[in-house]
Amino acid sequence: MTKGVLLPRTTPPFSPSTITHWRTTKPTVPFTHKRSIIATQPPLPCFLHDFSKVLSRTACSSSRRTNSNGLSYSSRVSLAKAVSINTNMSNYCTHSTDEIFSSKRRSRGPVMAAKKAAEGVTQEDSKYKHTVDLPKTTFGMRANSSQREPEIQKMWEENQVLKNIADGNTGGNFILHDGPPYANGDLHIGHALNKILKDIINRYKEARNNLTPLKLRAKANKFAKETVKSQMSSFKRYGVWADWNNPYLTLDPEYEAAQIEVFGQMALKGYIYRGRKPVHWSPSSQTALAEAELEYPEGHVSRSIYAIFKVVGAPVVSNDLLHEFPNLCIAIWTTTPWTIPANAAVAINPKLEYAVVGVESLDERASSSGENKKKKFGNILKDEKIPCLIVASELVSRLEAKWGVKLVVKRRLLGSELENYRYLHPVDNRECPVVVGGDYITTETGTGLVHTAPGHGQEDYVTGQKYGLPILSPVDDRGIFTEEAGQFSGLDVLGEGNTAVVKYLDENLSLILEESYEHKYPYDWRTKKPTIFRATEQWFASVEGFRDAAMGAIGHVKWVPAQGENRISAMTSNRSDWCISRQRTWGVPIPVFYHLQSREPLMNEETIDHIKSIIAQKGSDAWWYMTVEDLLPPKYCDRAAEYEKGTDTMDVWFDSGSSWAAVLTKRDCLSFPADLYLEGTDQHRGWFQSSLLTSIATTGKAPYSCKNQKESPAYGADVLRLWVSSVDYTGDVMIGSQILRQMSEIYRKLRGSLRYLLANLHDWKADYTVPYHELPRIDKHALCQLENVVKTIQGNYDNYQFFKIFQILQRFVIVDLSNFYFDVAKDRLYVGGSTSYTRRSCQTVLAAHLLSIVRVIAPILPHLAEDVWQNLPFQYTTEYGSVAKYVFEAKWPALNERWLNIPVEEIEFWGKILELRTEVNRVLEVARTGKLIGAGLDAKVYIYSSDASLASQLSELCEAKNDADTLHRLFITSQAEIIPSLEDEHFKDVPYSGECLIQGKTKVWIGVSRATGSKCERCWNYSEQVGSISDHPTLCGRCYSVIGVQMPPEVAAVS
Ligand SMILES: [Zn+2]
Repeated sequence: MTKGVLLPRTTPPFSPSTITHWRTTKPTVPFTHKRSIIATQPPLPCFLHDFSKVLSRTACSSSRRTNSNGLSYSSRVSLAKAVSINTNMSNYCTHSTDEIFSSKRRSRGPVMAAKKAAEGVTQEDSKYKHTVDLPKTTFGMRANSSQREPEIQKMWEENQVLKNIADGNTGGNFILHDGPPYANGDLHIGHALNKILKDIINRYKEARNNLTPLKLRAKANKFAKETVKSQMSSFKRYGVWADWNNPYLTLDPEYEAAQIEVFGQMALKGYIYRGRKPVHWSPSSQTALAEAELEYPEGHVSRSIYAIFKVVGAPVVSNDLLHEFPNLCIAIWTTTPWTIPANAAVAINPKLEYAVVGVESLDERASSSGENKKKKFGNILKDEKIPCLIVASELVSRLEAKWGVKLVVKRRLLGSELENYRYLHPVDNRECPVVVGGDYITTETGTGLVHTAPGHGQEDYVTGQKYGLPILSPVDDRGIFTEEAGQFSGLDVLGEGNTAVVKYLDENLSLILEESYEHKYPYDWRTKKPTIFRATEQWFASVEGFRDAAMGAIGHVKWVPAQGENRISAMTSNRSDWCISRQRTWGVPIPVFYHLQSREPLMNEETIDHIKSIIAQKGSDAWWYMTVEDLLPPKYCDRAAEYEKGTDTMDVWFDSGSSWAAVLTKRDCLSFPADLYLEGTDQHRGWFQSSLLTSIATTGKAPYSCKNQKESPAYGADVLRLWVSSVDYTGDVMIGSQILRQMSEIYRKLRGSLRYLLANLHDWKADYTVPYHELPRIDKHALCQLENVVKTIQGNYDNYQFFKIFQILQRFVIVDLSNFYFDVAKDRLYVGGSTSYTRRSCQTVLAAHLLSIVRVIAPILPHLAEDVWQNLPFQYTTEYGSVAKYVFEAKWPALNERWLNIPVEEIEFWGKILELRTEVNRVLEVARTGKLIGAGLDAKVYIYSSDASLASQLSELCEAKNDADTLHRLFITSQAEIIPSLEDEHFKDVPYSGECLIQGKTKVWIGVSRATGSKCERCWNYSEQVGSISDHPTLCGRCYSVIGVQMPPEVAAVS
């Protein structure tokens, strides 16, 4: 935000239309520097314009010093200071952190007295020291989190707070079903973000009487179990509540059996099939991979080639092309030269225009050839008789430039005319067809003709199915060419195999150009090595079979943020069949037997049920150590010798995608579907999707009703948790030492506000509560604001908008309360009289704030909230009549509609008061700079407004019967007077003044002079009464009555 913009800080929302005008008293020169403030010390007539320049420059730069234009007025220095303060103030508005115009200056009396008393300083006014109600609390200013947080966690654990609260839960369950983290080592900040977000939700739902614990699950192996244990202890240190004694693990036999059941149900519904299809294959881990197991690192460079295949035959109907161009080739482009041996066709787009071009070699190319390592021209270009080529018309000029040749268009034709021409396979001289492909053939790259190897590409496979093309895949599990690849046999396709193919093509005059090509290429997410597309026999789930149902279910789920719905919709609608088999020995087996001779799979209801019951008892290891005879149901036992077990296991996404079945439907305390799944946005193609697909396929329902996204406590867990709450977890989040320092500072201020509340309630009992209708206006307004905040925060919890809660808390607790209500309240609390109405009504408001704030922050900052709760100076009794010993036993604060329902005019009026107060503070600050006053209590404020209604409302406050609403108390000055006119000579002598616009329209004049009368020894307010009370000559009337001495009637008459 712009520095130097002065906006009232206490009247949200900040209105950009707030313009403050100031002028000197003498002479009356209107000063209209927009968004700047000047209050000047008279007489400075000719100084104003220069000053405005200085001001604007200072306000726009970080400099706090005005080194202005040789002005020699003695008052210049003090004005510069005023500017400096203004700059501070604007920082304050934008950063909401500094304390400016702090109460330290204006309500110094009691505060200083308290401070001095604490320091044991003897002072003159010590006579009344014991009558001042100083704040008192056992709650530390410092969090000391490394010690205190574990203590609190221990207390929760020892007292089984979570269990007791959950047991006492009478409402329906809220189920946040936690996903399956991989056992991936020590925790990092992403884990913190993830788990803390979930914990915030659970704690909130618990406070709203809705808890079911968070679940943790892990991968099925020993390492996983150890990691789970270590992650668990770290999560506990973050203060994450969960059913840690009873986590679910995918390697539990119960879980595995449920997963087999899901698989079986899908198989029996016909959604599972076995097929030979190209899948993502990782040579480095020798298994098929799902899309979700791939990553696309930046900077992958492939060897791309332009190759040509000789046309040798034409469709029966037309043969004229070959007559006209007997030496004709088709040009293709590929980034995977190693797939050329598996080429089965070349595909064209029937709607594109193609051209037959003659190739004329250029000399320039020859000179640049060889120099460029990224580019290598083929031998064919050196040949005397370069054949004519077919390429897409649109690409002719681009290819000319790329190949360094001149291409002469000799004939144009439509793609559809090329179908069924035949060409010679460049490696093994098979005749292959030109086929019609789909819209995937474009003129963005390449030649417009696509090398088609159905064994190595998804689109190629689809096109191949249409034409009955062979699915060649002469590559083994390790990514090595098989014997089927002839001369390339034994070579690694991603290495020397690729090189050999390129070299072969060049030697046989089939290569035009080879060049490096940087693009996105899939890597194995575990090994970080490139994958290949390779046709193998795999098991698939036919997404086609239940895609419509899945799409329908997505629409009924609430997604946060809303874009999540688009993401998962797009992914589900485009999803090809899900390859669920993996060639691994860990995990849950695909429960299938193969006939030894026919290779026919055996899998039916009986076999699946039988295997399920074995795994439920013995775990999935049984599949490996038991014999086929034992694994087959009795009915098949005599034929056991004809079968063998399958060795494939299921995709881990099938494991995790079955968690709804294995956990939600199996555990007594849980139910299906879950209320919430919460993970990072990457899970739209991972867990969210796998869970959706398995659930839809078997139950027809989504497994969740609502879903979501996200992201070494050197600081306390609560600071980290505060950070988690502050980020918009739907996008990328930032963290660093600077950010944590800021969080720590905000935490400290929040703690300070809570400490203020605790300390001023040290003698509080619920019995002292002042009935609502008897409260002063300021208190009713404060309760209304509090209730609004609680209500808004509740709405944001319900919508998982934690960063908004963070913003509201920061603004309300740290800025608004501290700067107004808490500040003004000090007088009432410290010197208003221990049991007085003014103090008790204030404490009524403070108690309401403490009890509400501590409970609404508890889900985010459980340790801080509990620490406050353990230091509560009074007992809190729940609506059920039990004493809440822990903060979470206190539940969520019930909304008090009555507090909310104050008239709109009243809210508007307080808005004006707060704005006016800010303006008054500005003039006071200038008066302080000018050494007229020290503290605000040394001052008297004059207000004039031509707006009669505002003037009368303000006068009403001046005459308020209760001490709390009195205008000068709100300003924290000793006196305030509403004056009827500015014409009166008396007011023209007021030494400091200025004008401002309240709410952008109501003009108000503010004057400041020294307060009249003398300073009261006890409260430091000035009063004419001081000196008039014979036995307490240093006290004001208020203090005199407070200390319990009967006031003489004649004094009471003096106002
Ligand atoms: Zn007093």
